[in-house]
Amino acid sequence: MIPYADLQAQYRGLKPEIDDAVLRVLDSAQFILGPEVSAFEREFADYCGAAEAIAVNTGTSALHLSLLAAGIGAGDEVITVPFTFVATAAAIVYAGARPVFVDIDPVTFTMDPARIEAAISGRTKAIMPVHLYGQAADMEPILEIARRRNLRVIEDAAQAHGAEYRGRRCGSIGDIAGFSFYPGKNLGAYGEGGAVVTNDRDLARTVRVLRNWGEEKRYEHRLKGYNYRMDGIQGAILRVKLRHLEAWTQARQTRAALYDRLLEGADVTRPLSRPWNRHVYHVYAIRTTGRARIQEALTAHGIQYGVHYPIPLHLQEAHRDLGYAAGDFPVAEAAARAVLSLPIFPEMTDAQVETVSAVVRTSAGCGQPPTE
Ligand SMILES: *Cc1c(COP(=O)(O)O)cnc(C)c1O
Repeated sequence: MIPYADLQAQYRGLKPEIDDAVLRVLDSAQFILGPEVSAFEREFADYCGAAEAIAVNTGTSALHLSLLAAGIGAGDEVITVPFTFVATAAAIVYAGARPVFVDIDPVTFTMDPARIEAAISGRTKAIMPVHLYGQAADMEPILEIARRRNLRVIEDAAQAHGAEYRGRRCGSIGDIAGFSFYPGKNLGAYGEGGAVVTNDRDLARTVRVLRNWGEEKRYEHRLKGYNYRMDGIQGAILRVKLRHLEAWTQARQTRAALYDRLLEGADVTRPLSRPWNRHVYHVYAIRTTGRARIQEALTAHGIQYGVHYPIPLHLQEAHRDLGYAAGDFPVAEAAARAVLSLPIFPEMTDAQVETVSAVVRTSAGCGQPPTE
């Protein structure tokens, strides 16, 4: 059996450090926010090359508060992509605004900047690119349009811990960003978690107030806030795991490079990493016209896989009210039919990558793997 990811193996490797961190929180009884969460906020802000990080309870909450702090509310429109996890659009809806989709680039699957201008209306307040699969969206043209049209840029960095665009870390590029620490993310908590990251001290102050019931002083509620605080235990665990993140990212990149080599010449399209990006391979998604056949072969060999994502958001039942139809975003629709995520995790062995690659090669219909 080859799992899609192996969180148990990761815990086994970290057990003494993690157990110690959790027990420290239990002893201190600082169960919500507290010193471990504050320390994690400083360390994660530094990691992102940003001034501030504000720890919250989920990545979705991080995006929701980023939008609210940026002044987005009822009647506003936010431009984003339909080829992403549902949380991207949900956060916009939570803020009372309307997601307006633009199609994606056919090569990287991130927002196609050439589509943005046509989607801007008098109600547009922000652009929310998604750094999908761990690769930064094409931020330079997005920032240029935002500057010219006076729009905010909110990064959905939920899959992009440590990813870079032209030397800048994701989360420090736009006005404000949301990260997720869902257990399966490149930096994952042992439960739910998220963070808002920004260089703007005023936005950071607003997010801090909003995540804790809108209060700056106890029982004085300046804003209508939320209970979006991070648990102390998650903060302590994330501090331990953050120290290993660079090594894990390098391990993911090594696995991706091995897949790239072993799948060369196979009848599948390998993921493309732009040379100016640092891709952190949260997902290693190939594209294929024979997905069902490859899925069947992987299952027969006990190999888990994922499909991120099979239905673009504009075709989801939940978002029917937005009024989109099939054919509106052909690149996203084609991607949804063709993508297949292969197992990738830092603890994965070369032999496992070789096994998966061999099954993909044969089931995709192609020759023998390259010989050394
Ligand atoms: C995981 C994810 C989120 C939401 O994060 P949660 O922590 O699960 O709430 C948002 N956007 C994208 C692109 C994600 O992958």
